[in-house]
Amino acid sequence: MTRIVIVEDEIDIASVVQDYLRHAGYETEHFTDGLSALESIVATPPDLTLLDIMLPRLDGIEVLRRAREHTAHPIIMLTARIEEVDRLLGLELGADDYVCKPFSPRELVARVRAVLRRTAPSLQGSASQSEAPGLVLDDVHWRASLEGTPLNLTRREFGLLQVLSRHPGRIFSRARLLELAYDDTVDVTERAIDSHVKNLRRKLGAVTPGHDWIRSVYGVGFAWEAPV
Ligand code: CA
Repeated sequence: MTRIVIVEDEIDIASVVQDYLRHAGYETEHFTDGLSALESIVATPPDLTLLDIMLPRLDGIEVLRRAREHTAHPIIMLTARIEEVDRLLGLELGADDYVCKPFSPRELVARVRAVLRRTAPSLQGSASQSEAPGLVLDDVHWRASLEGTPLNLTRREFGLLQVLSRHPGRIFSRARLLELAYDDTVDVTERAIDSHVKNLRRKLGAVTPGHDWIRSVYGVGFAWEAPV
């Protein structure tokens, strides 16, 4: 059975989340402070952890940082404010997703499912190099094809595709993309990133109509979303 640890000091929120997850078929375990949660997830990593940030004894950021020294299991952060997400992204602590409060429990369950699916061990063994089914990147010549169709990307678009597709589901802020996907950032504004993302989306969408590969995260940035 898939075991999910919930670390949340607000009992009302935790119990609603627990009800929904159990109803969805997951086994849950609840901790109200960071330290006991950390001890447990390091000793016996669950299949997924939902981790609040403001916690007694040890805050969620510290729990995440210390947990990552021992375990790579998926961790979804629960944050009270969207601004916190930006800060977290800057810290690059290795959370798998972020959910802002207040959230609907239904949406949270959907995110849990999506993260579990994405992080499930690949059945293809060594195929971890493939970013998405049918997507091939040639890093030397900055060429990419999707399902055999060349994408005709600009160098900027290729850079964005490289960064986003290699970290499925991870949310990148515009500032972070600027840092990772562009080797010279002199004339690149955040608005330019939006237009490069838009073009990239259009080119990918032309090959696979109906699937949007790049998810916009309101107020934060973008994430790669492989088809289910
Ligand atoms: Ca809290």
